[in-house]
Amino acid sequence: MTTEEKQKALERLNTEWGEKDLPLKAVATQAVPGEGNPDTDIVFVGEGPGKAEDEQGRPFVGAAGKFLSELLASIGLSREDVYIANMIKHRPPNNRDPLPDELAAYSPWLDEQIAIIQPKLIVTLGRYSMAHFLGDPTSLKLRGASALSISKIHGQPKRNKKGQVIMPMFHPAAALYRGDLRPVLMADFAKLPKVLKLIEGGKLLGQEATTSGPAFAEASADKQAILL
Ligand code: URA
Repeated sequence: MTTEEKQKALERLNTEWGEKDLPLKAVATQAVPGEGNPDTDIVFVGEGPGKAEDEQGRPFVGAAGKFLSELLASIGLSREDVYIANMIKHRPPNNRDPLPDELAAYSPWLDEQIAIIQPKLIVTLGRYSMAHFLGDPTSLKLRGASALSISKIHGQPKRNKKGQVIMPMFHPAAALYRGDLRPVLMADFAKLPKVLKLIEGGKLLGQEATTSGPAFAEASADKQAILL
């Protein structure tokens, strides 16, 4: 698809989903579907809209969004270069954590956005999007046995069952109340250009050793983290 076709497809998709009867629709001001370059290499996925996002209908426009813009700028990117979305598209009451049923109801919307954009890399911000792409969203466990811990796997790209390359990161909001996470996020962002180059060169996570089929990806996802 051309950039224009992707843009149109996203608009159609977001209109269609915006009309659906979703669990948090009645308590939110409006939907926050996502925004950015429909033809980007990188999609960033947060948790869900907060107060500012709910008011403006745009993702990451509050304090966490300001830090996200700084992180992007630190690697020479702007919000317009990438696509920014969330797991949940309506603000949960009082910013409470999303419930399993809500994650299940909204996640196909996100998956369809990603199917249109076809990014080379998906950066998960926080544990809910990490669990969606790398684990079992109902238990926040990695597929298999070990617990899915951002502290352990942040900044390490992994290929999931679908063959998507996922880079888990802390949520920028976490760094607002835990200052020690600021340099951690900066360091993880600094790896992104190199990770993209490796993907483009077919040199990341077994791409060179196999046809990178889903079976290989799933079997070794745990071992695929490379040190950058
Ligand atoms: N936090 C998120 O996870 N998403 C937003 O859009 C804003 C804050």
